[in-house]
Amino acid sequence: MNTCLTLLNKNLHLVRYPESLQHPSWQAWDSADEYLIEHVEQHIDLEKTENIRIINDDFGALACWFANSNPIWVSDSYVAKQACVLNLAKNELDVSQITFSDSVKQISSTVDLVLLKIPKTNALLEQQLIDLQSSVTASTKIIAAGKANLIPKSMLGLFEKYLGPTTTSLAKKKSRLVFCQPAADKSHTSPYPTTWYTDSPKFKISNLANVFARQQLDIGARFILEHFKKLPSFDNKTIVDLGCGNGVLGLHVLNSSSPDKVIFVDESYMAVASAKHNIETNLPDKLHLCEFRVDNCLEGFRQETEHAQVDLVLCNPPFHQQNTITDHIAWQMFTDSKGVLRKGGQLCVVGNRHLDYPKKLKRLFGNTNAVATGKKFSILAATK
Ligand code: SAM
Repeated sequence: MNTCLTLLNKNLHLVRYPESLQHPSWQAWDSADEYLIEHVEQHIDLEKTENIRIINDDFGALACWFANSNPIWVSDSYVAKQACVLNLAKNELDVSQITFSDSVKQISSTVDLVLLKIPKTNALLEQQLIDLQSSVTASTKIIAAGKANLIPKSMLGLFEKYLGPTTTSLAKKKSRLVFCQPAADKSHTSPYPTTWYTDSPKFKISNLANVFARQQLDIGARFILEHFKKLPSFDNKTIVDLGCGNGVLGLHVLNSSSPDKVIFVDESYMAVASAKHNIETNLPDKLHLCEFRVDNCLEGFRQETEHAQVDLVLCNPPFHQQNTITDHIAWQMFTDSKGVLRKGGQLCVVGNRHLDYPKKLKRLFGNTNAVATGKKFSILAATK
């Protein structure tokens, strides 16, 4: 992995997180970060810029570069935050120079300079532009950066609609900058959360802007729900809904049986907030059985818990980290699950049949069996 960012006679050592699971060809910053850094250094007097907000910094490259300006750092990703903290330490930068926030906290303080990496989903960008409305003034400078092919005209329309006049730079190394000048008194109501209903029972599922399957039930999750009765019993057990998204799987566990506890875990702050909201509104009398955690797979949970105590992990694994397609997160989810399961406990995974999950589970647990198999998906169980 290339870990040395050299720019404007300055070097940073930057890694992705978790460092040990990354492909050697990946790096922790991109040409959009470089373009943004160069532009700010060449055109903005940072000494005179008091309140800087960094939004969607993938792995902390922007935080490390601008740490001395004491920015507020906002992200929906717990993994991005862990990467940022790690990279600050690697570069001997004081973590207390950064004020960490997240996508579900409203920040109302005024901002003079916004540095925003264009996120993968338009919905998250839209929510973030709406969130900025209460912080910007006519003199706030907003500079966004992203891959040129990920900045269509419709996206520039979002900047215009929610904040004000917007222009773009020329493309450089396939990246582009977006400059937006806030107009006075823009105030919009957010279209998020969006809601949809499950079939039977008819639960109302509410999804904040960055939640997976925001507009409808995911097909993998649908496959699990169709075969729910074939899964091991949940009664009197401690269950983990790993990568819970809006919590639809854990919600059905709580509705269909009498578990001792359901632990909802996701790395997205919006996902965990949505899962909590969905239990509060659909099954309020079961809320006392639930725990909601923002974590990287079960990393923090494993560190906090002395004994393996989980009976069953239910998982519909992701296959992206930021914009990269990867199976390293699924792999970490499986190994972490093994770490928290008691002897005899089970991991149940739904996956597209072309993925090599059976091989992976067999290697890790020494066994695997197919609970249900369809044309596209299968549910696999592995026992510790
Ligand atoms: N369980 C939900 C469902 O079935 O609709 C969501 C499944 S979605 C395929 C995978 C989920 O894993 C996403 O909500 C994503 O935010 C979450 N995720 C991605 N990386 C993660 C990580 N490192 N740790 C925990 N959760 C992660």
